[in-house]
Amino acid sequence: MKALKILVVGGGIGGLTSAIALRREGFAVDVIERDPTWSVYGVGIIQQGNVIRAMKDLGILDDYIGAGFGFDHVDVHIPTGQRVAHIPTPKLVEGYPSNVGIGRKALHKVLGDRAKASGADIRLGVTIADLTDDGAGVDVVFSDGTSGRYDVVIGADGLYSTTRAQILPDAPGPKFTGQGVWRYNLERTPGVTDLCAYEGPIGIGLVPLSDSLMYIFVTSPEPDNPRYPHDALASTFRSKLDRAISPEILALKEQITVDDDVVYKPLEWIFLEGDWHRGRVVLLGDAVHATTPHLGQGAGMAIEDSIVLAQELARADSLEDAFTAYRTRRYDRCKYIVEASRAICEGQIGTGPIVENARATQEMFRVVAQPI
Ligand SMILES: Cc1cc2nc3c(=O)[nH]c(=O)nc-3n(C[C@H](O)[C@H](O)[C@H](O)COP(=O)(O)OP(=O)(O)OC[C@H]3O[C@@H](n4cnc5c(N)ncnc54)[C@H](O)[C@@H]3O)c2cc1C
Repeated sequence: MKALKILVVGGGIGGLTSAIALRREGFAVDVIERDPTWSVYGVGIIQQGNVIRAMKDLGILDDYIGAGFGFDHVDVHIPTGQRVAHIPTPKLVEGYPSNVGIGRKALHKVLGDRAKASGADIRLGVTIADLTDDGAGVDVVFSDGTSGRYDVVIGADGLYSTTRAQILPDAPGPKFTGQGVWRYNLERTPGVTDLCAYEGPIGIGLVPLSDSLMYIFVTSPEPDNPRYPHDALASTFRSKLDRAISPEILALKEQITVDDDVVYKPLEWIFLEGDWHRGRVVLLGDAVHATTPHLGQGAGMAIEDSIVLAQELARADSLEDAFTAYRTRRYDRCKYIVEASRAICEGQIGTGPIVENARATQEMFRVVAQPI
C-alpha cells in the first residue's frame, strides 16, 4: 500500500523503530509521546544478534554500535566469583559483535535522532483523548485539543497500553510474576568485557555499557510486590546482596549508595493470545507481548515487530491482510520469548521447575537467529 498516513502512539523503543521503518517505506508518520520530558531511566539493556541485524535493516547500525559496548561471549561465574564458562555467542552480522550492552538513554538518543531525521513528526506531552475508527479512517482527538485523521494507528504504548484498552477492552492485563529486579550503573571494572552471569540462589549479572560504564542487575523474589520507600532503595538493594560471597560482587555492593540511581522494577508480563488489532488500529511491542527480562529480548521483539509491520503494510493489498500477516510472522517467536523467559523466572523463585539458564539462553540464540 502506498501513501498511508500513520499515527504511532508511544515514543519508546518500538514506537521510534516503527517511525524509522515506516518512513523508510515512504509512509507519513506522526508520533505522540505522553511524557513531555521524553525521559528514560538511566540503566541499560542487553541486546543480541537479532537486534544487531534489525539495526542494520533500519539503517542505523553504526550509530547504534557506537553508542554501546559490543561483546561476543557470556561468562558464567559460580557464587564464589570463579569463572566456569566463557560461552561464545553467534554473530548474525559479519564484522559486528554478537551482543551489545547499551544504556537506555544512549539507545533512546540514537533512535530519537534517527526518527526525527527520517521526517517523522514527533510531539511530546501528547496522548489520545478520543479515537473513532469509522472503517475508512481513524479520527483522533489529542489531549492538547488538536485532531487528525489517519489511515492506521499503531499502539506502541507499552505494558499498560491505553490503546490496547481502547480497542481490546476484554484483553487480559499485565500479570506480576513474584520477582523484581534491581539495577544500578557502576564504573566498569576492566574484567567486565562480556555479560557476566553469576549462578546461585540470587541472580546477579554485570553488563558492560561503554568503556567507562557497566550496570549490575539482581533478581529477587518479591512475593508480596512491595512498594519500597525511595529513601531506602540503595540500602534495600545492598541487602539483596547479603548472601553474595564473590569478592567482586561484595566490593561492588558497597558502591550502591545513591537512592536516586537505583532502578527497581517488579517483573510483569502479558501475551495476547487473541487479536493484535481491531479495524485500523494495531498493537506492537510490550503493548501486546511484554516479557520478563531473563533472556534480554523484550526490546528486541518490539524492534522486530516494527520492521515486520512496516514491511507488511508496504506489500499487502489491504490493512486486514497486512495486520494478519504481521501477527502470523510474529506470534510464535514472541510467545516463545515470553514463555521461556517466564519459565526461568518461575524456576528462580520456586513457582516452577528450575530451568538451566545456559541451555535456555543457547536455545534463545538459536530461535532468534531465524529470519524474522
Ligand atoms: C527490568 C527490565 C529489564 C529489561 N531488560 C531488557 C534487556 O536487557 N533487553 C531487552 O531487549 N529488553 C529488556 N527489557 C524489555 C524492554 O524494556 C521492553 O520490551 C521495551 O521497552 C518495549 O518497548 P515498547 O516500545 O513496546 O514500550 P516502552 O519502551 O514501554 O515505550 C512505551 C512508550 O509509550 C509511551 N506511552 C505510554 N502510554 C502512552 C499514551 N497513552 N500516549 C502516548 N504515549 C504513551 C511511554 O511514555 C513510553 O515512552 C527489560 C524490561 C524490564 C522491565
